[in-house]
Amino acid sequence: MRNVSVIGSTGTIGVNTLDVISRHPEQLKVFALTANSQVEKLYQQCLEFKPSYAVMRDESAAQDLRERLSGYDIEVLAGAQGLDDVASANEVDAVMCAIVGAAGLSSTLAAARAGKDVLLANKEALVMSGDIFMQTVRDNQATLIPIDSEHNAIYQCLPETHSSCLVKAQCGLSDLGIEKVLLTGSGGPFREQPRAGLVEITPAQAIAHPNWTMGPKISVDSATMMNKGLEYIEARWLFSASAEQLEIVVHPESIIHSMVQYSDGSVLAQLGQPDMRTPIAYGLGYPERIDAGVKPLDFTQLTSLTFEAANPKRFPAIALAQDAMASGGTAPAILNAANEVAVDAFLAEQIGFLAITDLIDSVLQQQVVTPADDLEVVLAADQEARRLAKAWIREQ
Ligand code: NAD
Ligand code: MG
Repeated sequence: MRNVSVIGSTGTIGVNTLDVISRHPEQLKVFALTANSQVEKLYQQCLEFKPSYAVMRDESAAQDLRERLSGYDIEVLAGAQGLDDVASANEVDAVMCAIVGAAGLSSTLAAARAGKDVLLANKEALVMSGDIFMQTVRDNQATLIPIDSEHNAIYQCLPETHSSCLVKAQCGLSDLGIEKVLLTGSGGPFREQPRAGLVEITPAQAIAHPNWTMGPKISVDSATMMNKGLEYIEARWLFSASAEQLEIVVHPESIIHSMVQYSDGSVLAQLGQPDMRTPIAYGLGYPERIDAGVKPLDFTQLTSLTFEAANPKRFPAIALAQDAMASGGTAPAILNAANEVAVDAFLAEQIGFLAITDLIDSVLQQQVVTPADDLEVVLAADQEARRLAKAWIREQ
């Protein structure tokens, strides 16, 4: 029996995780469920999965949940400390890190520090603290399994020796005979729209992704292609890839989830339905394969698989992320924080769609980048970027 804490269980990834867990009652047990403030949804999940712990980030929501669960043997914790506690508890084997944004950093790091199987959906945590996070995984012999579909695909296409090698930083991709990692992306809902037409985009249009059903923040990131920018940084850290070893390829059908190109000319790809339950089941079952409830691909029904280069003029977010990674230090944390503020402001209709990347660019130009070898420094850079981003919005 594998004990799992699902951190961010009320979100899209959290709900899909519980769907997979419910298919394997003999193998998987929910230890803890957590949410920010959605009491009713977490309450219903508690009734169904009977975890030992439930955590609400919001203190008053925690009190509300505690009262509702008074007749049950479920302990309700509150706040950030509660999240860290259930991510690192002794009883836990695997932690699904599925909070959105920087808010997930602390609990994700807590899981790594406790040497857990870290199932990483919360890409922002790795983007912010890349070096510190990977070092924490190594120092505590945690097992890091990417859940982001592209990185999960790459992970599946690596040779079996990679985890003892890449993760421990004992070798690079070229030592494994790998020339390149090909990170695919759908291009989002506005792939074919001229940039001028993007001025009027509304939050509702941006959230309607053609292939994937996801939370609002990552949906907007997909529309600006900042999601691919964040994933570029994520892949650089996860696979110790240099800039030359990582290429972004637009693949609108989202059937190939990413590829690995070897030095003998072989290209290995992972294919499947665009359904997050596949990478989630991979992580939950690892190293075994378990049923995800996902229909296999029907190749007779696939009309075509197409590929193109990303358009850097239409989607400046990718270059912003690549430049931030090249600058190193706190630059990716600054990029991430400015993006979170910009996406929130766009969803609240305070700024337009194209202003998202203008804002991030402006913050990156204003803020001084420093080395990021200390968590305090990363968190301070995050706070300063948020302050600058909010000032930029006020000036509009
Ligand atoms: P979501 O918005 O649907 O859910 C977010 C979850 O985080 C919720 O449970 C919410 O309660 C919790 N949360 C939000 N703010 C919080 C806070 N301040 N403190 C504590 N908890 C908080 O998001 P999602 O689409 O499920 O995405 C989650 C993560 O997974 C993101 O990092 C995203 O980039 C990544 N991811 C998602 C998908 C997808 O298909 N949805 C795919 C790949 C990666
Ligand atoms: Mg992805």
